[in-house]
This record gives sequence, structure tokens and C-alpha cells, in this order.
Amino acid sequence: MLDDLRELYQEVILDHSKRPRNFRHPEDANHEAHGYNPLCGDTVNVYLKMGHNGLIEDAAFEGKGCAISLASASMMTEIIKGKTETEARDIFTGFQKLVKGEEEFIDAGDATDKLMMLAGVKEFPMRVKCATLAWHAMTSAMDNEEEVSTE
Ligand code: ZN
Repeated sequence: MLDDLRELYQEVILDHSKRPRNFRHPEDANHEAHGYNPLCGDTVNVYLKMGHNGLIEDAAFEGKGCAISLASASMMTEIIKGKTETEARDIFTGFQKLVKGEEEFIDAGDATDKLMMLAGVKEFPMRVKCATLAWHAMTSAMDNEEEVSTE
């Protein structure tokens, strides 16, 4: 990856960690789960408003942790809002392959750019759990499991 591109990605990630999008607890959320990453101390609550047709009408989160965990949660809420449950799970599956270094590139439609920005964590294996924490909490919320730990 080119250095200036890497710098841009870092700026976007820093921006999301400093000013997380959808950082709130929607009163009409009907699915939620708590995620914990004991390796880093990251915690996250993910809130979803799921429509009857499987559409994610709203996605939000609250939590505290490192820049990667906050940025990934922030970007995730932007990505999955308006998607169906199946689409969101598929995007997460692709994202996991990216951060584990199993794929160099994935095509996830309009989510591709954001996912590729986070893909740099594959060079830092300790950070993979930070980057995927909110996503694990998302699938737990969909599965009506209240708690998820990366351990
Ligand atoms: Zn972390």
C-alpha cells in the first residue's frame, strides 16, 4: 500500500475514533448485545432496530476502548444501516477474511472502501480482535445473545 494512502486511511480511522458516528442508545432498538475484548479492555454495546423484513433500520453503539475498536464500531454502524441481516452477516464474513489476511480484497458493494481502510489491522494481529469486536456484538444482537467476548 502506498504511504500516502496509508496516511489517509489512518486519518479516517482517527476521525471515526474521535468523533464516532451513531454513538447513542436508540430507544426503539429491539436487539442489543454487549461485547468485551479482554486483551485490550475494549467494551461495546451494539443497538439494532430490525424491521420485520430483516432490514436493519437503525444501528448505533456506545462503548469505550482503543481507537481501532471505536473506529470499527463507528464505521460498522454506517455500513450496516439500511442493509438486511443477511447482507450484514456476509459483509462481516468478508471483513474477517480481510483482517485475518486470508483475502487481499473483497467486494462488499458500497461498504468496500470503509472495510479496506480497516484492513490494515491485519499487520497487527493483536488488533484484529479490537477491529472485529463490534461486529461480533452485531451478530450476537441478531442472534439474541446478550454477551460476547473475543476470548
Ligand atoms: Zn482495542
